[in-house]
Amino acid sequence: MSIIITLDGFSSCGKSTLARQLANELNYVFIDSGAMYRAITLYFLRQHIDWNKPEQVRQALTEISLEFAYNPQTGQSDMLLNDEDVEALIRDMLVSEHVSEVSAIKEVREFAVAQQQKMGEKKSIVMDGRDIGTTVFPHAELKIFVVADPAIRVERRFRELYAKNPAITLEEVRANLEMRDYIDSNREFSPLRKADDAIVLDNSNLTRDEQLSLALGWAKERME
Ligand code: C5P
Repeated sequence: MSIIITLDGFSSCGKSTLARQLANELNYVFIDSGAMYRAITLYFLRQHIDWNKPEQVRQALTEISLEFAYNPQTGQSDMLLNDEDVEALIRDMLVSEHVSEVSAIKEVREFAVAQQQKMGEKKSIVMDGRDIGTTVFPHAELKIFVVADPAIRVERRFRELYAKNPAITLEEVRANLEMRDYIDSNREFSPLRKADDAIVLDNSNLTRDEQLSLALGWAKERME
C-alpha cells in the first residue's frame, strides 16, 4: 500500500537528509516544504515586498510559481521559482534570516499548504517541514517528529554553511537557529509542534544509516 510519510521538527535536525534517504529507498517522491517557503521569501526580498501589508503579499503570491525539478548533476530535486533554479540562492543566510517571518504569514501558509496537499494526492510521498503531520497531512500513515541536541544541530548546520561561506561564524548560525525555532514554535498559524500520533526520533547519537533503518522499519510496517 502506498502511504504518506511526514517528518517535522526544528531547523537543522536532519529531517531533509532522512526524508531524502527514505524516499530513495521506497521509490517515493521527496518534498522539501521548507524550500517552498524559502523561495517565496527570496521573491519577496527581490521585489521589495512589504510583507506587513496583506495586499502586497496577496498580489505577490499571484506572481509566484513554484516547482521542483530533477537535477541530474546532483541527483536531487531543485526548487524552481518562476522557472529559475534558485536551489543555491534559497540556502543563503539572507533568506534564512527572513524565512520564518515570511512563513508565519497566514496567506503565505495557505498558498504553500494548498500546493503541498496537491502533491500528496497520489500518496507515495515523503515531505519534511514544520506542520506537515499537523496541518498539511493530518491523516498521514506515518508521522515522524525528529529531534536532536541543540549543540549538535548548530554544529551540523555550521559545517554545511561553512563549506560554502568560510566567513560564517558559529555564533551567527546559533543565533539564526534559535530565532527560527522561536518564531516557528510561537507563530499563530500552524506552529511547529509534534502531532499527537507522531513517533519521536532523536538522532543526536545515531548515524545516518541507523536513523534510516529505524524509519524504514516503521514505514514498512505501515505499508503492509
Ligand atoms: O526546513 P527549512 O529549515 O529549510 O525551512 C525554512 C523555514 O521555513 C523554517 O524555519 C520555517 O520558518 C519555514 N517552514 C515552515 N513550514 C514548513 C517548512 C518550513 O514554516 N512546513
